[in-house]
Amino acid sequence: MKKIVLPVLLLLMLSACKAQKNAADNQTIGGNQEKNLPLLQATLYHQTAAEMRALAYQAFNLAKLQLDREMRRAGLTKKRAVILDIDETILDNSPFEAKLIKENASYPSYWAEWIKKEQAKPIPGALEFLNYVDEKGLAIFYVSNRHDSLKKPTMANLKEVGFPQVAEDHLYLKTTISGKEKRRKKIASDHKIIMLIGDNLNDFSEVFEGKSIAGRYAKTDSLREAFGNRFIVLPNAMYGEWEGAAIDYKYDASDKEKLKRKLNRLKDFEE
Ligand SMILES: [Mg+2]
Repeated sequence: MKKIVLPVLLLLMLSACKAQKNAADNQTIGGNQEKNLPLLQATLYHQTAAEMRALAYQAFNLAKLQLDREMRRAGLTKKRAVILDIDETILDNSPFEAKLIKENASYPSYWAEWIKKEQAKPIPGALEFLNYVDEKGLAIFYVSNRHDSLKKPTMANLKEVGFPQVAEDHLYLKTTISGKEKRRKKIASDHKIIMLIGDNLNDFSEVFEGKSIAGRYAKTDSLREAFGNRFIVLPNAMYGEWEGAAIDYKYDASDKEKLKRKLNRLKDFEE
């Protein structure tokens, strides 16, 4: 009898220890972590995957090739211009995303605070590419949905890390509407836009705006020749219109409801 009791006791003690350890782990992670679990994996990729850096280099190497090709075209009457988005295209805001995870918070908490710190680092390859564009004498326009009230720290951050042509008339931030078409048209009135660079399809054309997943797929397929040519895309799995489409743009839904909608989007296979 003794022979059986001892191992059983040991097993019970071990499982009690394990349960205690799991409880401690859960406590470290935080109570209601459901909200930011998807964000954890995406932010980890953004901050630690060398593949992320490689993709960014790939995007800007390709952009440089296209720029050189474009420069060989003659007979243009308008000055050539490159349009870039800012967040997750040339500036890395993953420390803000990491803050949301650690504090179990959601956008817009901490957003203005983060921008005002002016500490965002350049996305790998962005600085070298834009300085090359500047050397070649092209105009650079930064078209971002950061709110216009954050113009001062945004300009200071861009200047501090060394981006060229950072001036009031080269920076188009959001005032009332998120759509960027009006701002692009204004630039196009006296420039030939040879390239657009962004992490969100809305950075390229209004045809993607407010579309469902199927609609975004269809428009992407119809414009397939533009990608890697006139349109250069940076990866961003942390947030974006893709996520909006996945939750039917129900940004005000509860965390549970959002998670449910995301899970429902997944396609698995029949066993
Ligand atoms: Mg962006």
